[in-house]
Amino acid sequence: MNVHEYQAKDILQSFGVPVPRGDVASTADEAADVARALGGDKFVVKAQIHAGGRGKGGGVKLADSIDEVRDIAGQMIGMDLVTHQTGPEGKRVEKVLVAEAVDIHQELYLGLVVDRASSAVTLMASAEGGVEIETIAAERPEAILKEAADPAVGLLPFQANRVAYGLGLETAVARQFVSMAMKLYKTFTESDAALMEINPLAVVGDGVLVALDAKMNFDDNALYRHKDIAELRDPTEEDPRELEAKEHELSYVSLDGTIGCMVNGAGLAMSTMDIIKHYGAEPANFLDVGGRATAERVTVAFKLILSDPNVKAILVNIFGGIVACDLIAEGVLAAVEEVQLSVPLVVRLEGTNVQRGRQLLAESDLDIITAEDLDEAAQKAVAAVSAQAR
Ligand code: ADP
Ligand code: MG
Repeated sequence: MNVHEYQAKDILQSFGVPVPRGDVASTADEAADVARALGGDKFVVKAQIHAGGRGKGGGVKLADSIDEVRDIAGQMIGMDLVTHQTGPEGKRVEKVLVAEAVDIHQELYLGLVVDRASSAVTLMASAEGGVEIETIAAERPEAILKEAADPAVGLLPFQANRVAYGLGLETAVARQFVSMAMKLYKTFTESDAALMEINPLAVVGDGVLVALDAKMNFDDNALYRHKDIAELRDPTEEDPRELEAKEHELSYVSLDGTIGCMVNGAGLAMSTMDIIKHYGAEPANFLDVGGRATAERVTVAFKLILSDPNVKAILVNIFGGIVACDLIAEGVLAAVEEVQLSVPLVVRLEGTNVQRGRQLLAESDLDIITAEDLDEAAQKAVAAVSAQAR
C-alpha cells in the first residue's frame, strides 16, 4: 500500500527524521491558513498524488506570499496532474502539502528497498538526487552506492558511514547522514515498509540535512499490525477493481493487456500470465480466485474481469483440487449465463472429476472454447484476441 508524501513525512517525523515544516490542505483557503501558520515568506505547494515526477509535471510550485499559496493551491486542487508515472490520463489532485521552502545546496538520493539479490533490506544512495534514479541506475550504475543490512543485526553505523563518505559528504553532513540513515532503517523495519525513497534528501541552508520528499510503500500482509498506517489508505488512489476484489477476498492485480485471466492459485496464475506472453499477447490482470472456486466467486471474478474495457478474451485455467472440476464447470456455466459474456471464453480444467467437468462444458449451448492443457488454452485465447485485431 502506498501513502501520500505528507503521510510518509508524518511517519518519518515520528521516528525523529527531520522534514520541512508544513501541513496538508484540501482547499485554497486551507492552504493559505497553513502558510500563515508557518510564517515566513517562502513556501512550496506540492500536489499529493501517489506518483513521482510531480516537480517536472507542475505539481510542485514555489510561492513568495500567502496569496500566491492560495492561488497555486486553487489551481492544483481538482486538476488532473500528469507526470511520467501517472500515464496520460493523469491523477486527480485532492490535497496539497504546503511547506516551508528551503534553500537547497545539494540534492542527494536515499532509498531503502527489499533487495531480492541480497535477500536483505538494502540502503541505496547517490550524490545525484532530485532526478529520476532509474536513469542513473541505467546509465551509470556505479553512481549508486549500496549497503545490504544483515537481517540479524540490521543496518550498522559503519555501513551508513561508508556510504556517507562514498557520497563525498563533508564530516558535519556525513554525521547527519549516518544518523538519518539509521533512523530511516528503523522506520522502514518497524513499520514493515516495502519501499522508502527520500529523493531529494537535501543539504539545505547552513549544512543541515532534511528529507524534502518521501515516498513509502508498505507490505499489505503486515498492515494488520499497523492499524494507524492501514488507516492512511486513500481509496481514490486505488484501482476500483482491485478494491472490489479485496472485498470478495480475491487477489486481483490490474494489468495493461487484453486477456483476462481467471486462475486458482498464485503460482498457476503466474504461469498462465507467462504462457500468454509466450504466445505473443498480454494478460489484462492477475487473478487468483483461491482454493474455493465456487459459482459465486467465479461470477464475481467474471464481472471484475469484464468491467475492464481492455479485455478482449478470457482465459479460465482452474485446477480442481479442493473443489472438483464438475462443480467448477457448473460455476463457470452459471456465471457465464448471469454476466452475459461479450468476449470469447477459453476454459481449461484439470484435476478431480475433470472428465465430468469437460463434458458439462461440451454439452452446454453456451459459447465456450475448451482446451485440454494450458498450452492449448493460451494459444486459443491469443488466437481469439488476434482474430479481433484483424
Ligand atoms: P517529485 O519527486 O514528485 O518531483 P519532490 O518532492 O521531489 O517531487 O519535489 C521536486 C523538487 O522540488 C525537488 O527536487 C526540490 O528541488 C524541490 N522542492 C521540493 N520540496 C521543496 C521545499 N520544501 N523547498 C524547496 N524546494 C523543494
Ligand atoms: Mg522526489
